[in-house]
Amino acid sequence: MNKEWSAHLSTVIAGIILLFILGLVLGEVAWVMLAGNLIYLGWTLRQTFRLHQWLNHSDESLDTPESYGLWGDLFDNIHKLQKHHKDAQRKLQTMLNRVQESTNALNDAVVITDANGAMDWWNQAAERMLGFKTHIDHGQLIYNLLRDPVFKTYFDSKSYKSPLELASPARPHIILRFHITLFGEDDRLIIAQDISRIHQLERMRKDFVSNVSHEMRTPLTVISGYLETLQDHSDELPRKWQRAVSTMRQQAHRMERLITDLLLLAKLETTDHKPQDKASTLKILLDDIRRDAQEFSADKQHNIRLIGQGDDALMGDEPQLRSALSNIIFNAVKYTPANGDIDIHWWSDSKGVHIAVRDNGIGIDPVHLPRLTERFYRADPSRHKETGGSGLGLAIVKHVMLNHGGTLEVHSEPNIGSEFICHFPLKRLVPEAPRAKEA
Ligand code: ADP
Repeated sequence: MNKEWSAHLSTVIAGIILLFILGLVLGEVAWVMLAGNLIYLGWTLRQTFRLHQWLNHSDESLDTPESYGLWGDLFDNIHKLQKHHKDAQRKLQTMLNRVQESTNALNDAVVITDANGAMDWWNQAAERMLGFKTHIDHGQLIYNLLRDPVFKTYFDSKSYKSPLELASPARPHIILRFHITLFGEDDRLIIAQDISRIHQLERMRKDFVSNVSHEMRTPLTVISGYLETLQDHSDELPRKWQRAVSTMRQQAHRMERLITDLLLLAKLETTDHKPQDKASTLKILLDDIRRDAQEFSADKQHNIRLIGQGDDALMGDEPQLRSALSNIIFNAVKYTPANGDIDIHWWSDSKGVHIAVRDNGIGIDPVHLPRLTERFYRADPSRHKETGGSGLGLAIVKHVMLNHGGTLEVHSEPNIGSEFICHFPLKRLVPEAPRAKEA
């Protein structure tokens, strides 16, 4: 029992005793007690009414009612609580204003939506870059304003590991990179960054590489042609020149391959270069490449086997697929010692079409695996002179897979061997039966 309460109780008891004594003096104990209690009840009702009035008008900041005893304490405590609550509210508002001011100062667009995509809040950059209007668009579904279907698919996917790049709907010359973060109950925090400058630089880089490759092709063809002629007549050359001409011819050939790969990569990278879809029967396509690989293996006599059943076909750009699969299979030949085994295995299931190339060659240290598909990345740079590769093979494979909505999986162990698996989505499978019917 706290002090205030016991003081109040003592006052009440003292009041009752006084009333009783007064009753005794007046000789009307019952009436005096009744009158006293009625007065107390009336006073209590009045305090309750004042409390009710005050609480109802607390917004208009009515003065705290004056009272004493328990009621006085009650009014004071409620007043203290209200003050504390208002202070906390003010602090929160100041903090909210600061957050809003700082996000408004951001160059990146920030948008908050609920789980369905209804827009709750956005900053000024979002108005500038995405064309949202403060009063009109509140509560609108974001994908009704960013109308590209790719955005809707990305938004609904809930898988935001990699960002999405799109042109701004308000200013199409601006390229935006969208990052989405889930929070709360599937609410979304969307951040859009202007990457037009990076995009332009990237485009310049691609154009530069492709132009230089084009320009180098013609002189190189001439040099290569003359070297070939010289080599054809090498018996007429002085002995010391014979080796030089042969080396020059080999290097010119390597440069030609490099330029062909660079041009192919530049073509694959351009987003406007859509694959030309055509059904290629896996057995025929892979057997063709297997034969070329066997020829490439020559006296190294690799044992290259094709494992797969049926006449299933893969829908895709045939030259691109041939190039990607050749790169993987020829790599298996290059990086597997003589007489090694290379298995080309294909199958289809509920997830799609899969092509795996397994060898028992030199393998790759796991530290290199994450970077293997980068241009010119080599797991063992000392070996590339021997194998004569351009260093672009797996970069080409990666782009072909991306263009076909597929993925590349790599497993490898040094001195045990490697396995490269291409996974294509189910929509690219053309099963044997329907094609037979069509025919
Ligand atoms: P390269 O022209 O050098 O073969 P790629 O892009 O085709 O370039 O391959 C990149 C690197 O990956 C190669 O330099 C090699 O170190 C490694 N690699 C690729 N395939 C295999 C394989 N089957 N076995 C071992 N290493 C491989």
